[in-house]
Amino acid sequence: MADKTRILPENVPGKWYVDDSCTPCHVCLDEAPGLLKYNDDETYVYFYKQPETPEEEERAQAALDICPTAAIGNDNE
Ligand code: SF4
Repeated sequence: MADKTRILPENVPGKWYVDDSCTPCHVCLDEAPGLLKYNDDETYVYFYKQPETPEEEERAQAALDICPTAAIGNDNE
């Protein structure tokens, strides 16, 4: 489970985030390319946009579900 005390600082504010356990393996970018992207040196990914529509919520959830290190969370209320 992702840890909201370890949120990567680039994440835009909101309930969805990537924490510092991202490897990065890339697979979440295939699920939610409109929400997630690499940092400049491609050492991790982060949410550059929070989901705003039901479809975007589904994409974010798919990214969370597929993440092998459980780096994606949605409990940052
Ligand atoms: S799926 Fe998880 S470990 Fe892989 S790049 Fe995305 S957040 Fe990082």
